[in-house]
Amino acid sequence: MKSLVVTGPGGLEWQDRPAPGLSAPGDALVRPIASSACDLDRRLVVSPAPFEPPFALGHEAVGEIVDLDGDDAPLHVGQRVVIPWHISCGTCENCRRALPGACASVPRLASYGTSAGGLWGGLFDDLVRVPWARYNLTPLPGSVDPFLAASAADNLTDAFQAVRPTLDARPGAEVLVVGGTASLGLLTVLSAVALGAGSVTYFDVDEGRRAKAAAAGATVVAAEAYPDRLDGTFDLVVDASAASAGFRCALLSTRPGGTCVIRSVYFGEPRLPYFSLYGTGITIVVGPPHAGPHVPDVLKLLDGGTLDPAPILAGPFGYDDAVGVLLDPPAGKPVFTRP
Ligand SMILES: [Zn+2]
Ligand SMILES: [Zn+2]
Repeated sequence: MKSLVVTGPGGLEWQDRPAPGLSAPGDALVRPIASSACDLDRRLVVSPAPFEPPFALGHEAVGEIVDLDGDDAPLHVGQRVVIPWHISCGTCENCRRALPGACASVPRLASYGTSAGGLWGGLFDDLVRVPWARYNLTPLPGSVDPFLAASAADNLTDAFQAVRPTLDARPGAEVLVVGGTASLGLLTVLSAVALGAGSVTYFDVDEGRRAKAAAAGATVVAAEAYPDRLDGTFDLVVDASAASAGFRCALLSTRPGGTCVIRSVYFGEPRLPYFSLYGTGITIVVGPPHAGPHVPDVLKLLDGGTLDPAPILAGPFGYDDAVGVLLDPPAGKPVFTRP
C-alpha cells in the first residue's frame, strides 16, 4: 500500500509499505476517504522534532471500514467512520474518565501520524489498522459530507471542546481566541458562535485569518504582534497561536476567575508569567484534546448545519497531490478526498 512518510526536515514522500492486517481482537481495517491536515502537520513536515523520522503523516480522517474482527455492531464493513487521532483502549482508568489521549494501555501520546508513542501508521495512508475499533470509531451519518467531517478526528473537536465546558457552565460567556495557527483558532470561533457565546473576539497577526474570523461572527482585533494583554473581560480565552508571545497574551487576557485553554502544541517549555497571574485565580487547561468521546456531538452540529467549517477548509485535493500541497500549503486547512 502507499503511505505518506515524513523522512526528515522538508522530506515528505509516498512510499510502498506492507499493508496492515487484523492482528488483535476488536481490530478494524479502515481506508481513509477524506483526510485533513492538522495544523501540527504543517510544522511536522518542516521540522519533525521532537518526533523521530521516518513516520507516516496524518491524524485526521473519515474512512470506510474494509474489514473487522468479528461482528462488532454497530460497526460493519462499508460503514463510514471518524478515526480519532489517538490510539486508546476504552477500558483503562483514563479512557473511562474520557481521557483517551492519555490511554494507559499504550505508550504516551500513541497516535496516528507521529512517532511519539510508536508507529501506528498515518491517516493519509491507503489503509490503517484501528485497535479497539468499537471504542474508537464513530459512525458518520449518511447526511454528513466526509469532506466537512474529516477534522472532527482532531482540530474541529479540539476547538469545540475548548469552548463547550465553559459555555455549558456559563451560557453567554465572553470568549477571546488568540489565533495564529492555520485552522484551530478559526474553528474555535465557529464553535463558540455555534454554542452561544455572549461575544467572541479574535486576535491574529494575519489579515486573511482575521477576515475569516469576522465573517464567522467574531469581533476582530488587529496588530502586527501579540500584545501583552487584550482589553476586555474574557471568561474564556483559547490560545491557538502556537507562539510564545500568544501564550503569554492569552494567559494575561483571562479575567480573574476565568479559564485559559491552551490548544497550541508547544514542544518546549514556554515561560509562565506566574507572578503576573498571581491573585487572578484563573484555571489553565492544557492539551492534548481527548477527541473521541466528543466526536458524536460535533457530528450532530455538522449534520444540523449549526457548525459549518467549509469556509475554513481548502480543497478537496486528490491524495496524489498531498506532497505538493503539504509542502506548500494553502491558507486554508487542506482536505484530501478519494472517490
Ligand atoms: Zn493534530
Ligand atoms: Zn485506555
